[in-house]
Amino acid sequence: MLIGIDFDNTLAGYDHVFVAAAKARGWLPAASLGGKREIRDTLRGLADGERKWMELQGEVYGLRMPEAEMIDGAARFLARCRTEGFRVVVVSHKTEFGHFDPTRTRLHDAARTWMTAKGFFDPAGFAVAEAFFEPTREGKIARIGALGCGVFIDDLEEVFLDPGFPAACRRLHLAGAAAGLGHGPFASYPGWAEIHDAVFPAA
Ligand SMILES: [Mg+2]
Repeated sequence: MLIGIDFDNTLAGYDHVFVAAAKARGWLPAASLGGKREIRDTLRGLADGERKWMELQGEVYGLRMPEAEMIDGAARFLARCRTEGFRVVVVSHKTEFGHFDPTRTRLHDAARTWMTAKGFFDPAGFAVAEAFFEPTREGKIARIGALGCGVFIDDLEEVFLDPGFPAACRRLHLAGAAAGLGHGPFASYPGWAEIHDAVFPAA
């Protein structure tokens, strides 16, 4: 069984990083506790809001990548895959550079460095077989198909809704505890604990 997993906001969590980066730029009131979605909506209400939002993303996924934290429950899931002998690959849609990033940080390298530091590629750690960073969503979906993933886990419904998504691959959507569950040609779960139990049902 090959299990494919998305990277941003499925394995790597950035909500707190978005808050810190937006406050540092004075784009968010100091008292705000908002997560990624609230910040996006706040910025889009400002002058040049769409550009601000893209700049912030470039900084968070690049220079500030070391501040990301694993999404709750992902570590337990990966550890279980290892003990069960399931191969795990990470397949991510990620551009090579962030938009409007003056530092020209290489986003794929930043993500790999973070993964290495967390033990993703360590056979005694999470033992992830490979990570693929595809510059386009079509590339990501083609990769999932070419690898023959039996299961794919993603926080974005759009990935599962793409007509090119491989029909034979089981689609598990990580909705997140704060959001409502999604509805579509996929199973939607509030968190990793529920995804763990769906993939590894109690005997
Ligand atoms: Mg994602």
